[in-house]
Amino acid sequence: KNRFLASLAALDDTVPLPHRTQDRRLPELPAPTDGFANTPDTDPAVAANRDWGRAVLDRVPGSTAGTATVAAAALQTEEQLDRVMEAALAAGRGWAALTGDRRAEVLHRAGEALAARRAELLEVAAAEAGKTLDQADPEISEAIDFAHYYAERARELDEVDGATFVPSRLTVVTPPWNFPVAIPAGSALAALAAGSPVVFKPAGPTKRCGAVVAEAIWEALDASGISRDVLALVDLEERSLGRQLISHPSVDRLILTGAYETAELFRSFRSDLPLLAETSGKNALVVTPSADFDLAAKDVAYSAFGHAGQKCSAASLVILVGSVAQSKRFRNQLVDAVSSLTVDYPTNPAAQMGPLTEPAEGKLLQALTTLEEGQTWLIEPRQLDDTGKLWSPGVRTGVQRGSEFHRVEYFGPVLGVMTAETLEEAVAIQNEVDYGLTAGLHSLDPEEIGYWLDTVQAGNLYVNRHITGAIVQRQPFGGWKKSAVGPGTKAGGPSYLMGLGEWEPAPLRG
Ligand code: GLU
Repeated sequence: KNRFLASLAALDDTVPLPHRTQDRRLPELPAPTDGFANTPDTDPAVAANRDWGRAVLDRVPGSTAGTATVAAAALQTEEQLDRVMEAALAAGRGWAALTGDRRAEVLHRAGEALAARRAELLEVAAAEAGKTLDQADPEISEAIDFAHYYAERARELDEVDGATFVPSRLTVVTPPWNFPVAIPAGSALAALAAGSPVVFKPAGPTKRCGAVVAEAIWEALDASGISRDVLALVDLEERSLGRQLISHPSVDRLILTGAYETAELFRSFRSDLPLLAETSGKNALVVTPSADFDLAAKDVAYSAFGHAGQKCSAASLVILVGSVAQSKRFRNQLVDAVSSLTVDYPTNPAAQMGPLTEPAEGKLLQALTTLEEGQTWLIEPRQLDDTGKLWSPGVRTGVQRGSEFHRVEYFGPVLGVMTAETLEEAVAIQNEVDYGLTAGLHSLDPEEIGYWLDTVQAGNLYVNRHITGAIVQRQPFGGWKKSAVGPGTKAGGPSYLMGLGEWEPAPLRG
């Protein structure tokens, strides 16, 4: 199935473990079928890049986002929505009729257009979402990767034997605000690559990000002589239009990234709508006594507090196994790693944890300010200014199995410490939540690693690494259990486009 994995397996059979490091040649890597290579992030070790980053951030207003005009069609009535749908459908007929090769050209152009907008995208992601440089930059690389990767997958849709791929007539894309560049770009480009026109509604707080993504794709369409109407950017000024959009009879697919409750709400609008949703997570990282504690503490801090914990993939729990629970050394390292994070607005290029995109409220505010019985703050979160957005990170200990903190997703900078006698118990704690998005293990024991990989229930598993930051082609991203709704294909993976249309048996050939 996968030539690289197959060649690795072959190697495993012939080279016994203890002799691996010496004269061992890596298996011949198949050139990723099409020469795909991940786009590098901006390297902050290069002085010129730091100057460039500073200049970009100088354009970002301080703690309040600036206002700008958005190129979206601001829809107020159902008739206006109908007209946008009609135009997209009409343009979509020509688009669907193109070969995968031709669509691939457009997607590659879109990747170039996104790359040319890196500075602009960084600026709007910082201004609207409060993304720090170190968080926004990789997101832009990911968006570019999606374009080039899906371009090549588009070609494959024409090549499957025995079946014909029938694109969706119209796909609605409703991305979240936490990855306001990569997720809308990835979702819209996937649908386009699969031959479907797209109606794209950016998340409320990040409309300018959505507009820049759309402009990049429009530039690619223009350059290819294709109608811009295959990608409609809409701003639903009237809330009730959301329901109209989703239940519109022309729509036959919806790509959603957001809370599980949102997926349920959309299903309630129209139960027969094919939905491809990546939803909530309640993710834990396990640390066993064999772990490299320095690395583990650092990875826990990054996984929990990067982008202020506003990722479905973020670590919300760390589970300390056996003696780690009592280890003063690990505890001190964790406290050091977390309390040394620079918390500030993205206008400070050194900021490692930025503000919340929206002021803390509801269950997140509760989690930042109150403890359940038996819990204590290892590091108490503090509100750093009066915006309600800038909080220092919080770490609570004494989180009990089955408690609210064990199960609820808070989507913010608060981490809970749990303990387990054994790795088996830690896995049971991980698996007890309704979601199954990301999971991490820090262990240097191959048996522990093997056991964990076989038993933990999550879509994205990370060993001895932080648990956020999936990478197109190398670590595609998708969930299990209540973290996904739909065909279960992973974004940035080989089958994602396959799940975005219907397959019809090909006519028999003589
Ligand atoms: N793909 C992102 C990651 O791997 C998470 C996306 C999300 O939060 O929705 O960190």
